[in-house]
Amino acid sequence: MDHPTGSPDARAARHRRLCEADHRHLWHPFTQMQDWLAEEPLVVDSADGVHLVDTLGNRYLDGVSSLWCNVHGHRVKAIDDAIRAQLDRVAHSTLLGLASTASIECAEELVRHLPRGLTRVFFSDAGATAVEIALKMAFQHHQLRGDAARTEFVALRGGYHGDTIGSVSVGGIDLFHRIFKPLLFDVHHAPQPYCYRCPLGKEPASCGMACADAVEQVFAERPGRIAALVMEPVMQGADGMIAQPPGYVRRMREICDRHGALLVCDEVATGFGRTGTTFAVEQDGVVPDILTMAKGITGGYLPLAATVTTERVFESFLGPYEEKRTFFHGHTYAGNPLACAAATASLRLLREERVIEGLPAKIAALARALEPAARMAHVGEVRQRGLMVGLELVRDRATREEYAYALRSGHEVMLEARRLGAILRPLGNVVVLMPPLAMTERELEQLAAIALASIEKVTARI
Ligand code: PLP
Repeated sequence: MDHPTGSPDARAARHRRLCEADHRHLWHPFTQMQDWLAEEPLVVDSADGVHLVDTLGNRYLDGVSSLWCNVHGHRVKAIDDAIRAQLDRVAHSTLLGLASTASIECAEELVRHLPRGLTRVFFSDAGATAVEIALKMAFQHHQLRGDAARTEFVALRGGYHGDTIGSVSVGGIDLFHRIFKPLLFDVHHAPQPYCYRCPLGKEPASCGMACADAVEQVFAERPGRIAALVMEPVMQGADGMIAQPPGYVRRMREICDRHGALLVCDEVATGFGRTGTTFAVEQDGVVPDILTMAKGITGGYLPLAATVTTERVFESFLGPYEEKRTFFHGHTYAGNPLACAAATASLRLLREERVIEGLPAKIAALARALEPAARMAHVGEVRQRGLMVGLELVRDRATREEYAYALRSGHEVMLEARRLGAILRPLGNVVVLMPPLAMTERELEQLAAIALASIEKVTARI
């Protein structure tokens, strides 16, 4: 692979060649490729701390943590060194029938960070696989306990749990999931806690969390049938950073307990400090039966995921070989040693550098920097939980009228933000900020300023 020389001409030539090759061979995820092929891509070439650098040498704040996974910044010495040291031992060995040093150390370190009671770690390699595993684990758990009628799942509208068929089944975003409906298993979808656009037409001050009652109603109508409730705690990310009222997760825990179902909390997005606590469930003092994680587990370095559970769930799978209680599920790269080494290093940094303890000041700085949004004509709501932020753009603040899909308001803001030096990735009309935990207060202020300036400029013309 050729590398850029100091000459601007050589850089430009290399950039053009890479763009052409991208257009010739790549199919990008969640991307309308007709638009993509008509535009010149930004090609990331390297990174440095919380900045990404493109092939032309431009630097950008990594405003969405390279799709919500980077934690400590890029090229962090402790994580780089851990991966290099692991490379000198073994890059990959399997967890099917063998143990490995890197996966043992990683699980041990991970359990130190988990809510008390979650002690059993099942590794895989993506958020979607972690959720797929949770579904099968919950289902089989009830089967093995002789509760054979518990075959159904409850999930929230607006939920996102990944793109495999099981995780799409529990997903609730029409735009992504509707076309696959004939392939999916039936799931009971309950109203989401979206206070700005309450699906029940209520007001937060007086509703008494009626949307939580609606979840319980589903359980009440299906006595003894529900295996688990699957949800993103505190913030439904991919639907546009839909923040839940305090106490909502606790209500979900109570409902599951009353009805004998498992609570599966998907912390693929919210895990590892994003909402201000290591895991979002801590904010409601909740311990789920199964917790899924991926993205930030390696600090955003390598693909690794985990489905963690209690000894109670684990024990239902134990028995004599011939009883076939085994969990027949596994992925080739489960617990990959390089990824585990990165995760152990990242988790140690979280602990030893007291990263979570340092978050309140950063969260407050980001909130302060976003205060002007409350007075902007086309920002309907600012939803912030820790360092996860959604700014919902509206055509009309009074009526909350949405911008038409075809206007691509979020996309336009993203393009403007690039010109100002930040990488964003919107969700429809919601501008998302999800910076690495490592951003300084000054960098968070810069990021917020770029986002607000971009919104101002774009909404003035669309
Ligand atoms: N679950 C949640 C809550 C997510 O936000 C995501 C991805 O954004 C996933 C699952 C899927 O993760 P992956 O893309 O690693 O499969």
